Amino acid sequence: MNIVLLGPPGAGKGTQGERIAQTFNIPKLATGDVLREAVRQATPQGLAAKRFMDRGDLVPDSVILGIMKEALARPAAANGVVLDGVVRTVPQAEGLARVLGELGRTLDVVLLFDVDEEELVRRLSTRTVCEKCQSPYTGREPGSTCDKCGGTLVRRKDDEPDAIRTRMRAYREQTAPVIEWYRARAREGALRGQSAARVVSVDAIGAVDDVSARVLTALGK
Ligand code: AMP
Repeated sequence: MNIVLLGPPGAGKGTQGERIAQTFNIPKLATGDVLREAVRQATPQGLAAKRFMDRGDLVPDSVILGIMKEALARPAAANGVVLDGVVRTVPQAEGLARVLGELGRTLDVVLLFDVDEEELVRRLSTRTVCEKCQSPYTGREPGSTCDKCGGTLVRRKDDEPDAIRTRMRAYREQTAPVIEWYRARAREGALRGQSAARVVSVDAIGAVDDVSARVLTALGK
């Protein structure tokens, strides 16, 4: 099963993506994690991406398409993959369809995370992440210890107020139109009797376990 997770920053895509990956026993690809690792390793890709990321802007589509292509061609992704934050512009959605097509695969589900902006700003401004394993926490101070791996929790640079505002604007202007793009394809597919990814929306407000239950129901588990 190939699944795209779509939703604004802080909607819980990372946390829920991890659970979906475990439930379906498929890998999760998060371009944000790949890019942050590239920044840490100071690779040319990381150095080029860093200034966009620190400001909260999207990195260029060409960079994302390169990451997508390489990750999807791996044998581990042959039975499906959870794509967390991988599709954030219409050209990226088109690129993903092309890459999957070349591999003889299709996208099954687009899962929309529904959360209001006020709640997102609250979540992001109280979020810390483990600098080692990237696990996110809400309301835990920087410097605390990660429950999962013992690493140190840090505040992401792009969780500062200015960058949060830029990320929300990027979501509204560049990512929200992707939802309509997938909906139009689903309608067209239905008319022509062709398969197209199912677009499903989940209420992403509430306790992590409650949201997980809704997500798994939406995915037919
Ligand atoms: P995330 O961890 O998903 O919030 O991503 C962190 C940052 O990485 C974003 O604010 C962007 O700067 C960059 N990024 C991650 N995925 C993408 C993508 N698909 N397209 C463009 N930029 C991305």
